[in-house]
Amino acid sequence: MVEMVNKQYSHLKNKPATVYWLDNKLYLNITNKCSNHCLFCIRNFQEGVGGFILKLPEEPSIDRVITDLEEVSNTKNWTEAVFCGFGEPTERLDCLLEITRWLRRRYGKSLHIRVNTNGQGDLIIA
Ligand code: SF4
Repeated sequence: MVEMVNKQYSHLKNKPATVYWLDNKLYLNITNKCSNHCLFCIRNFQEGVGGFILKLPEEPSIDRVITDLEEVSNTKNWTEAVFCGFGEPTERLDCLLEITRWLRRRYGKSLHIRVNTNGQGDLIIA
């Protein structure tokens, strides 16, 4: 099934991705901003992961992320959505919250939602 999805949506791998996937998990790349500049950051060494380009030419609008989500939302039984990309998700708190609401409306509580954060959200939002 993963191979089928990957083949059907291989065109998404040729452009910067706000939504990408590994196995049954959806990943959300909603920003390239980050409050840190870690030397070991994968962004210093790669353009993306899993064949997806995660360096974004600009910060994506909420509508763009939702459009990208809608394109793959029915393709398989996603078990988890993870806000994890080439930036710190709380840098786009408005987008993070709006997309979370969209995911809850679309999947109810069957989808586990997780935020991969550097823990600096309080400082970023202050
Ligand atoms: S995305 Fe993560 S690893 Fe990269 S600079 Fe930010 S906190 Fe560090």
